[in-house]
Amino acid sequence: MAGEFELIRRHFTRTAPAGMLGVGDDCALLAPSAEATAVSTDLLVEGRHFFPDVDPRALGHKSLAVNLSDLAAMGAKPTAFVLGLALPRADDAWLSAYAGGLFALADAHGCPLVGGDTTRSDAGTTLSITIFGSVPARAALRRSGARPGDDIWVSGMLGDADLALRLLLGEPEVPVADRAAVLAATRRALEWPEPRVALGLALRGLASAAIDISDGLLQDLGHILAASGCGARLCADDVPVSPAVAALPVPWRRRCALGGGDAYELCFTAPADARARVADAAARAGVAATRIGAVQAGAGLRVVDAGGNPVPDLPRAGFDHFPSTAGPAAGLLPETT
Ligand code: ADP
Ligand code: MG
Repeated sequence: MAGEFELIRRHFTRTAPAGMLGVGDDCALLAPSAEATAVSTDLLVEGRHFFPDVDPRALGHKSLAVNLSDLAAMGAKPTAFVLGLALPRADDAWLSAYAGGLFALADAHGCPLVGGDTTRSDAGTTLSITIFGSVPARAALRRSGARPGDDIWVSGMLGDADLALRLLLGEPEVPVADRAAVLAATRRALEWPEPRVALGLALRGLASAAIDISDGLLQDLGHILAASGCGARLCADDVPVSPAVAALPVPWRRRCALGGGDAYELCFTAPADARARVADAAARAGVAATRIGAVQAGAGLRVVDAGGNPVPDLPRAGFDHFPSTAGPAAGLLPETT
């Protein structure tokens, strides 16, 4: 069977009307004249994207955060969002907590809720947010602008969300002694991701390409490279990780940091002569930015260790809802049906 991205390509990818950027990037750009409207939508399905017993306040935060993260990846400023809710029951306390988490983040980003739809569901809860933002069309951070010689950067630290998810799923093979302590240290990254909107804005006119890491660094960087027609060299040991991930045996550290989804950090490229300006932009945005590799001519992503040797046993490409080969994809919650 075809993978998620092949299904989208086969059935839903058409040439966008002149002046629009359509399927294939973190946001669509509508009528990109001087100022474009950036649009993105994300579905969150119970049992697939969140646990049935997740803190509803955290879910409210995360359901908007993942959409804000797509605006960040385009360098777009949030304008407003609409909310679709399919609910098995009308649970006032749950909805109040969900709305609390949702509006706290919305208010922090000046992004009002302006509509939506609510319906009963015979299955679990499904949440859908469509978000709108604005960005000068020429300054939008698209996936297709990386050029050979550009640096590859990542914001924040990778791996915590994936490690927390594995612990919450009860994967017995995760090599940590004190599972409760490691979960306590990593869970916030999974449940309360901080969308890098300020960084996206600061990178306008500076980054040549950008994507947010929702499916794993290797896969998401792969989208930039495919869209840009380039390859890259990535140094696995330069990818920033938290103390919890750094304490893992090396293959696990790489699995979480390079393959783990749900990170919502930005991976972006920028010309090598812009290093000081990138560092300055990150400092203004209040987030770390780390150089992890370089874009190269030709195809292929070569991952090396600190000694320059190819890294063996790389994690599977990343998250795909319809993986075309057998085997579990990283980051999947168990099916509820
Ligand atoms: P992201 O992780 O940034 O949210 P996805 O990986 O979900 O992006 O999707 C990749 C691209 O395919 C995006 O441009 C998205 O808008 C588009 N896409 C996904 N599903 C559909 C669909 N059902 N119809 C049209 N476009 C889609
Ligand atoms: Mg995205």
